[in-house]
Amino acid sequence: MTNFPIDKIRQDFPILQRKVNGKPLVYLDNAATSQTPKQVIDCIVEYYSLYNANIHRGVHTLSQEATDAYEAAREKIRVHFNAKHPEEIIFTSGTTEGINLVAHGFSKRLKKGDEVIVSALEHHSNIVPWQMMCEETGAKLKVLPMLPSGDLDMKAYADLVNANTKLVFVNHISNALGTINPIKEIIEKAKSVGAAVLIDGAQAAPHIKADVQALDVDFYVVSAHKMCGPTGVGVLYGKKTWLEKLDPYQGGGEMIDQVRFEQTTYAGLPHKFEAGTPNICGGIAFGAAIDYMNTIGFEAIAQYEHDLLVKATQALLEIDGLKIYGTAKEKTSVISFNIEGIHPYDIGTIVDKLGIAVRTGHHCAQPIMDYYEIPGTVRASFAFYNTFEEVEALVQAVKKAKEMLS
Ligand SMILES: *Cc1c(COP(=O)(O)O)cnc(C)c1O
Repeated sequence: MTNFPIDKIRQDFPILQRKVNGKPLVYLDNAATSQTPKQVIDCIVEYYSLYNANIHRGVHTLSQEATDAYEAAREKIRVHFNAKHPEEIIFTSGTTEGINLVAHGFSKRLKKGDEVIVSALEHHSNIVPWQMMCEETGAKLKVLPMLPSGDLDMKAYADLVNANTKLVFVNHISNALGTINPIKEIIEKAKSVGAAVLIDGAQAAPHIKADVQALDVDFYVVSAHKMCGPTGVGVLYGKKTWLEKLDPYQGGGEMIDQVRFEQTTYAGLPHKFEAGTPNICGGIAFGAAIDYMNTIGFEAIAQYEHDLLVKATQALLEIDGLKIYGTAKEKTSVISFNIEGIHPYDIGTIVDKLGIAVRTGHHCAQPIMDYYEIPGTVRASFAFYNTFEEVEALVQAVKKAKEMLS
C-alpha cells in the first residue's frame, strides 16, 4: 500500500524510538501485547492529573467527571462492536476474566448429559475455565479438530453439534497461527440446535471490527492491551437476555441493589457483573485506543498488515529448512515458524540481540503444538505500525541465527 501514513503513525508511538541491545527496536510481538500511542498515554496522564476519583457513588465534581468519562468509554465500545444496549458491555480485567465470568455463570446452568464444544485452536484461557465448569457440572467437553493447514475441520464440527450441545466456544483468530476462523458459520450451526456461542475476540479485535449483532453471537470477549490500550482491562459483550439469566461472578460493592444480612439483591446490568472499584482509567483509555484505531481505519489496517504478511511469508520461506505452521487462506499477520534442527528459543535469543522482539514457545496454546508434535515455535506478529524494512530486518536476523546455530 502506497498511501498508508506509516511515518506519521510511527511518530505516535514513543517506544518505537528506543534501542534494544544497541539496535533500533523492531517490535514483532504484537499478538502478545500491542504498543501504546501517545494519544492513549496522554489520556492516562490526563486522568490521573485532572479527575482521578471513584465513580458511580460520589456527588462531587471529580467523581462525576470520572463517571461520565467511564460511561462515555462504554458507549464508544458499544458503538465499535455494534452492541444494541450499553448495558451489554461489561468491563472486565481482560479476555481471561470475561471467559471465566461466563463459565462461572454456566456452571449453574449445565448438567450431566449436556455437551460443550471447544476448538483445537484455543488459547489456554478459552480451555481451562471450561474444563473447570465441566468438572463441576458433569457436562462433556468435545473438541472441534484442526487440519494441518491450521484451519478448523468444519466437516467434523457438523458431526459434533447435536441436540445435547449447549455451548460452543471458539476464537475469532488464533493467536498461535493467525487463522481467521469461520465464526459466522460456527455460530449459525450452533444456533440451529439452540446452543449459545462465546467468541474469544482477543486476537481479532486489533485487526477486524466485529459486529456482534450481525454475527448474532451471544458472548464476545476482548482485551484492551491487544488493541493499543492498557493492560488489565477488557470487555465482555453479552446479549442482554443471557446476562440477565447468568448469576453474578463476584460479590462486592457496586454490584448490589440492597444488602441485608438476611438477603442481598443485585443491581441491574451492567453493574451486576462489575463488583468493586474497576480499572477506571483503563476503561477510559480503552475508549481512547478505539478512537485512535478508528482514525486510521480498520480496513486500511487490515490491507497494510496483509501486505506485510505476504512479504514476510515469501521472504522467510526462502530460508532453507524453515517451516511455517498455519497456512490457512484466511489469516492475519502472524507467522509461526521453526528451522529444522534448531530450538525456537535459541532463534528468539539471537534475534533479540539484534533488537528484534519475537515470541518463542507454545503461545498459551499447547494443544496446537502437540498436534504438530513440536515443543513450540518462533512467532513474529505484525501490527499496522511495523514496516517493510522491519520485515527485512527480521529475515536477515533469522538467517544470521541459522548460520550461528547450524
Ligand atoms: C491474548 C489472548 C487471550 C488472553 O488475553 P488476556 O488479556 O491475557 O486475558 C485469550 N485468547 C486469545 C486468542 C489471545 O490472543
